[in-house]
Amino acid sequence: MPFRLPDLPYKFDALEPAIDTRTMEIHHGKHHAAYVNKLNEAIAKHPELGDKTVEELLAGISDIPEDIRTAVRNHGGGHANHSLFWAIMKPNGSGEPSGALAKAISSTFGSFANFQEKIVANGMGQFGSGWTWLVVKADKTLAAYATPNQDSPLMTGDIPILGIDVWEHAYYLKYQNKRDEYLKNWWSVVNWKQVARLFDHAVNQ
Ligand code: MN
Repeated sequence: MPFRLPDLPYKFDALEPAIDTRTMEIHHGKHHAAYVNKLNEAIAKHPELGDKTVEELLAGISDIPEDIRTAVRNHGGGHANHSLFWAIMKPNGSGEPSGALAKAISSTFGSFANFQEKIVANGMGQFGSGWTWLVVKADKTLAAYATPNQDSPLMTGDIPILGIDVWEHAYYLKYQNKRDEYLKNWWSVVNWKQVARLFDHAVNQ
């Protein structure tokens, strides 16, 4: 099986109270695991794709054989999106980024507060399931937008460096219908060091 569920870089209860333990257990152990399993099932039908990374599969989505393209889009997207999501969170996150990322955020969005507002507004505006993103575009500038379902920004040539899962499975146990409260509290668990690392990598590649 070419793809495997990555371990969480912290314990299931580490993101309390912003994200509750039970949500983390189900989200990682059931939802993300299912994306990995179904991606593996799809790739098993085309073993020649087995040495590609999930990022490569998504960036080249239009070249994926038609019989598994939707599965790669949904389950490959789910695998890539959740792998990023776990990595850009940490216990006692919060604060603000520094350095080049901070400068890029200010020049693109006007201020850090405006940037946060934009990410939250995009997440609130996403009808149904999806993600709200901060991405680095091909011209190395930043952009913020939402995508439906498990659609990855990689499919349109952008590199996601921060993403918040706004599927109900990400917050419903604790927040029920209050997606706005989940999004507000999410900023207390951001791993800005990791987001900055992804930004530096994306602009320097
Ligand atoms: Mn999810």
